[in-house]
Amino acid sequence: MVDLDGNPAADGELEGGYTVPNELPLHTELFRRRPDVRAVVHAHPPRVVAADLAGLAVRPIVGAYDIPGTRLAANGVPVYPRGVLIRNRQLAAEMADAMETKPVVVLRGHGLTSAAETVEQAVLQAISVDSLAGLALQVTSAGGHLVDLPDADMAELPDLGGAFNTGTAWRHEIARLGEHS
Ligand SMILES: [Zn+2]
Repeated sequence: MVDLDGNPAADGELEGGYTVPNELPLHTELFRRRPDVRAVVHAHPPRVVAADLAGLAVRPIVGAYDIPGTRLAANGVPVYPRGVLIRNRQLAAEMADAMETKPVVVLRGHGLTSAAETVEQAVLQAISVDSLAGLALQVTSAGGHLVDLPDADMAELPDLGGAFNTGTAWRHEIARLGEHS
């Protein structure tokens, strides 16, 4: 509906009474920099914010519970350390620098940004990071310590392929939406 500078494509007005989001630059900066990125999700999940503020990095603490999420965590989820509203290109560039070529970056005191080739992938990555952050908070609240999955178990995890990792997982999330409506 808008170009990479936030200008409405059609004669200055957005359909449906929408306005351009304040944080559009964090989306467009990633589209500009990364040709692999076709979808960007930005959200404010409380568990992600809390886990980061508690000093808990997103780590591969589970295995078969969430295989794509475990792999994503094992490859590293960086943190952009400023709690700012990302409303201009300068701040978006800082965030993108912190993110490098990773799929997800945690934004301290703010939320997360997830980038992927499809909307489904970007959403599912964000859900995985939220889920891992929630588990990390639960484990530490119960007095436990976070331990990464052993290398031998990581090596044993199968890649179930895009049809399962994205297709089945996406249908599950859509079904959950139905339960809440
Ligand atoms: Zn935000």
